[in-house]
Amino acid sequence: MSETLPGLLVAGCRSCHSRYLPRPGRCPRCGSDEVGPQRISNQASVLAATEVSTPPAGFAPPHRLALLEAADGVRILALVHGALPEPGDSVAVVRDGAQYVVVDEGRARPPVAPPPPA
Ligand SMILES: [Zn+2]
Repeated sequence: MSETLPGLLVAGCRSCHSRYLPRPGRCPRCGSDEVGPQRISNQASVLAATEVSTPPAGFAPPHRLALLEAADGVRILALVHGALPEPGDSVAVVRDGAQYVVVDEGRARPPVAPPPPA
């Protein structure tokens, strides 16, 4: 599989059906070695986002990070180059080398709940 295909490449366990970001070794949930590459949507929901005032070496300020949840509960810590998203926002995420990056396109807030009846 190529990273140029749409979606995100993740690891999927054929034993317990959990999915997670690719990592070497056995399934971290059940220990099975029946693990293989799978693709999921690159749309994710923002769980939290922050701007780090003192970025780690190699990163220029502003250093913004978002914790995302993609399909099947796959959690991703991604860099944000644009405006900081808010929890609940829907964003697209792409892999850029060893990092994951939030893509501004496709960002949308869920519809605002109507006001309670008077
Ligand atoms: Zn498993």
